[in-house]
Amino acid sequence: MTDNEIMPWVRVTAISLLLMLCATAPVWASNSYPGGIAWVPLDTNDDQPPVVHYGSRRVMVAPSAIGWQAVVGIPLGARNGQHELTVTAKETTQTVSFQVAPKAYETQSITIADKGKVTPSQTNLERIGREQIKMKAIFRNFRDVPTQPALFWPLQGPISSPFGLRRLINEKPRNPHSGLDIAAPEGSPITAPAAGVIADTGDYFFNGNSVFIDHGQGLVTLYCHMSRIDVKPGDPVKTGDVIGQVGQTGRATGPHLHWGVSLNDARVDPGLLMAED
Ligand SMILES: [Zn+2]
Repeated sequence: MTDNEIMPWVRVTAISLLLMLCATAPVWASNSYPGGIAWVPLDTNDDQPPVVHYGSRRVMVAPSAIGWQAVVGIPLGARNGQHELTVTAKETTQTVSFQVAPKAYETQSITIADKGKVTPSQTNLERIGREQIKMKAIFRNFRDVPTQPALFWPLQGPISSPFGLRRLINEKPRNPHSGLDIAAPEGSPITAPAAGVIADTGDYFFNGNSVFIDHGQGLVTLYCHMSRIDVKPGDPVKTGDVIGQVGQTGRATGPHLHWGVSLNDARVDPGLLMAED
């Protein structure tokens, strides 16, 4: 075949694949609770997706068999009851509401011997403050590119600490666990769970050596406690690319990956976005 014969075929195939994808895109189950994800139908089949905000945060919009849906990350601290989205399509803005149900997460007590990592010094508190500002900016960035709200496991291993766990560290209540811990030997390769761009890398006080991947539309994934980082800010990654290795840097009691998933600046349960095999 010549190039001229191949090109139309490629184009037709690409278009039919896209149509098939939209037609078969799953209607994901809504897990509308703190730390969960609400899939809110937007009642529109326009070619262009509407622009959706949850408070001041722009929200991901994905195609589904029933039209466009908002994919809303719900913060762990969200109150129960009715929440609202503002939806702008064709220069008209309307409000769409959805319900957030209560969710009970388990409680666990852990002991950390290194007191400096539990009650940081003034110098370290200042460092932590600067790191929090930097992380907030990464989580709040909205890259308006088409994206798939589906992830593959970045590492195989037992879950050593689930998402949402309410923690008592040395008997004092701390923030709930905002990610998932996967245990694996030091040096195990960690892979990108979806395509994206490396938003930042660095050595963080609690999180140790960390990588942030921006997957677009407010979906950001975070990898902590790494022994080695193999990417740098601005690098594009594909699903399955190695980004570094498992370690125990920062506040860690053994080698593991702390995997965080953030949607519209809300840390959500990574398990809710896992793609079907
Ligand atoms: Zn963790």
